Amino acid sequence: MKKIWLLSLAVAIAACSGKPAAPAQRSGSSDAPPVPIGELPMIDAAAVLAHTKVLASDEYEGRAPGTRGEELTVAYLVNEFKRMGLKPGNTDGTYLQKVPLVGITPDPATLVLRKGAQQRVLKWKDDVVAWTKHVAGNANLTNSELVFVGYGVVAPEFNWDDYKGVDVKGKTLLMLINDPPVPDPANSQQLDPKVFGGKAMTYYGRWTYKYEIGAQKGAAGVIIIHETGPAGYPFEVVQSKVTEQFDLVTPDKNMGRAAVEGWITLDQGKDLLKIAGQDFDALKKLAATRDFKPVPLGITASMTLHNKLRTVDSNNVIARLDGSDPVRKNEYVVYTAHWDHLGIGPAVDDDQIYNGAKDNAVGTAGLLEIARAFTRLASPPKRSILFLAVTAEEQGLLGSQYYAVRPIYPLASTLADVNMDGLNVHGRTRDLTLIGFGASDLDDFASAAAGEQGRVIRPDPETEKGFYYRSDHFNFAKQGVPALDPDEGVDFIGQPADYGKKVRDDYTEHRYHKPSDEVSADWDLSGAREDLQVFFAVGYRVAQADRFPDWKPGNEFKAKRDAMLGK
Ligand SMILES: [Zn+2]
Repeated sequence: MKKIWLLSLAVAIAACSGKPAAPAQRSGSSDAPPVPIGELPMIDAAAVLAHTKVLASDEYEGRAPGTRGEELTVAYLVNEFKRMGLKPGNTDGTYLQKVPLVGITPDPATLVLRKGAQQRVLKWKDDVVAWTKHVAGNANLTNSELVFVGYGVVAPEFNWDDYKGVDVKGKTLLMLINDPPVPDPANSQQLDPKVFGGKAMTYYGRWTYKYEIGAQKGAAGVIIIHETGPAGYPFEVVQSKVTEQFDLVTPDKNMGRAAVEGWITLDQGKDLLKIAGQDFDALKKLAATRDFKPVPLGITASMTLHNKLRTVDSNNVIARLDGSDPVRKNEYVVYTAHWDHLGIGPAVDDDQIYNGAKDNAVGTAGLLEIARAFTRLASPPKRSILFLAVTAEEQGLLGSQYYAVRPIYPLASTLADVNMDGLNVHGRTRDLTLIGFGASDLDDFASAAAGEQGRVIRPDPETEKGFYYRSDHFNFAKQGVPALDPDEGVDFIGQPADYGKKVRDDYTEHRYHKPSDEVSADWDLSGAREDLQVFFAVGYRVAQADRFPDWKPGNEFKAKRDAMLGK
């Protein structure tokens, strides 16, 4: 404990009285040069740690949605926002946005495939994992015609449409996972970086997209053929989805979704295509071209899912700092962090409380202290700032999805989201990682701010894994709002070169989603403080800038933003 205090104090002294601030840069598009990062109010690392200790304490029971842990967490956040003098973020005069959740658990079932007199039964969990998002006692596929639709993608910006106008209403779509792998015409050894981001995964490659496009097409069922490489994880990870799944409850009780969503193993997928007189490898190759057309398989699919349902009422917490400009105060910059974690679960080493200190008590604490730093500015920024602590990230980014589809303030007037999911707890770094680097102008704001600290931006090293689509900022991106997804640096000051990897691997292996994700005595938030200072500067400067930040050309969310802004 003492060590952390001394270190953060030393950093504070260096930052306040030490080297002169870097020359002001014209980041973004503001007419006036931005306030140098060293002249903004300081983030208080000791306060971040203090909040984290409360939120991650055993008393808070691991902060599961709908539990006593939620009550305590929500009360703590509301109280802190009030103490800072921030306004209720909801226009109903409260600091809460109610988020109704439903948990759906299907009984085991089989997927029955028929071609003429032939019948094949796929076994639950071994061969097929399926569920429904319908809020209903059961959901069925009844002799639904099976159609192979390649990667199932409609991407106008890449002139790509796997459906070619074929009506697939009421049918069951069989799809491949990931983006269509289009070879580079200049070098057949690599993927074309101009189509679907080359080796990087775009949202079209994610499993969630596959089910969404299937629903848009009116399909009765959507089944993905699992492949370990392109999915980024083995079938065991898919098999873990046979338990309860949470979702939001939409006004149509999610009836707009396909009745059955699921995965089958690669072996079953190959066999199935063989029965249809097709060859998996040949079809897969064809699916990577713009000439691909849906292939009816002459097979029908039947499945009946019986569900257990339970509803959980949860909350997003939201506070607002009003902008100082009479017009621009009606425009917004949002900061997000998920307050929830896994609650009380199976005991590991006699501990049943999944405290989620790093995931994401510390990010929520960072959200509070960025909010406090904004209240310490001599005058508020021109635009308003929203501080949004979201629920049910661990159940599939549901709290942020709820806000993004039912926003309290118009998304067309929302300039950016800056998200915090985990912070560095191991001391100062020379770098800061940005997931999906190059997605939007926000990356330039972050680069400039980090540069003023003498630090560099490190692009996401594993773009093929699609990490950009895995935390709460993504729900803003998906609706078109530019969103920043920062991650910890790896180049630690005063540590050996492999230290960053060592602490990261140690966390993944021993603490991630385990009861041992707790605050420990060796935590050092001096690096987190510098990262938070960057996030603060980014939001402040966006709130002051003359121009809205935009997606970079070719980004998959740009068309949506352009349409929203009437461009
Ligand atoms: Zn988590």
